[in-house]
Amino acid sequence: MKVVNKKFAAAAAVTVLCAFQGTHAQEQYPTPPPMTPEMSEFWTPQPRIVTPGEPAKDAAITAPSDAIILFDGKDLSKWQKRDGKPADWKLGKGYFEVTKGKGEILTKDDFEDFQLHIEWSAPTDTAGKYSQGRGNSGIFMQGIYELQVLDCYNNKTYANGQAGSIYKQTAPLVNAMRKPGEWNVYDVIYTAPRFKKDGSVQSPARITVLHNGVLIQNNTIILGDTPYIGFPKYKEHGRGPILLQDHGDPVKFRNIWIREL
Ligand code: MG
Repeated sequence: MKVVNKKFAAAAAVTVLCAFQGTHAQEQYPTPPPMTPEMSEFWTPQPRIVTPGEPAKDAAITAPSDAIILFDGKDLSKWQKRDGKPADWKLGKGYFEVTKGKGEILTKDDFEDFQLHIEWSAPTDTAGKYSQGRGNSGIFMQGIYELQVLDCYNNKTYANGQAGSIYKQTAPLVNAMRKPGEWNVYDVIYTAPRFKKDGSVQSPARITVLHNGVLIQNNTIILGDTPYIGFPKYKEHGRGPILLQDHGDPVKFRNIWIREL
């Protein structure tokens, strides 16, 4: 608090030219302090821990007949880099892995409303890694709105930055994490925002998420984009890709499919 106040006091005042009673006068208003990451993080209440059901012998659920397969375990042909070059994350047996420094990858196709199935596994090397530094990646709806991927198994972080949070907005209802090295499943139902002709929001995006079969986001309103620093805001856009974050941690992904709604 002390620091914030100090910053506030130190912030330059804004000079506003305003007109009243037919004359012009200079009025002074304070400017808000510059935002820091901590200003949009809350730690309590921490989502309660729920142990998810066990997968039957690690059996992945295959895609339904009308799904678009985004990754079938073989290649990254449905994905690309931001600049349109081929996605070059490391491929393993039946999975691919965030490859530090290669940058985010995104689907070549763009989507609006959809059901998405995606499985991910946090790295087992957890030594010396904590909070947001452990198994961090993310799945961005339409390339903009981050559903957090993070190893939250015995790893505390701010509630609205946990696995399954809408990053820096809404904490998951519960923490349904599996251990590092085990496969987590997200099933996402996403409704894209709609915009008016003037570019303002007609209806915000909404998202429902099941984590390992446990409801963690229940038709949650997405408040805008999900920056590390700052508050969410909307900017008009059309269809967009599914984007996966390179946060430097070798998080694995497999069995990704999507159904357009
Ligand atoms: Mg992330």
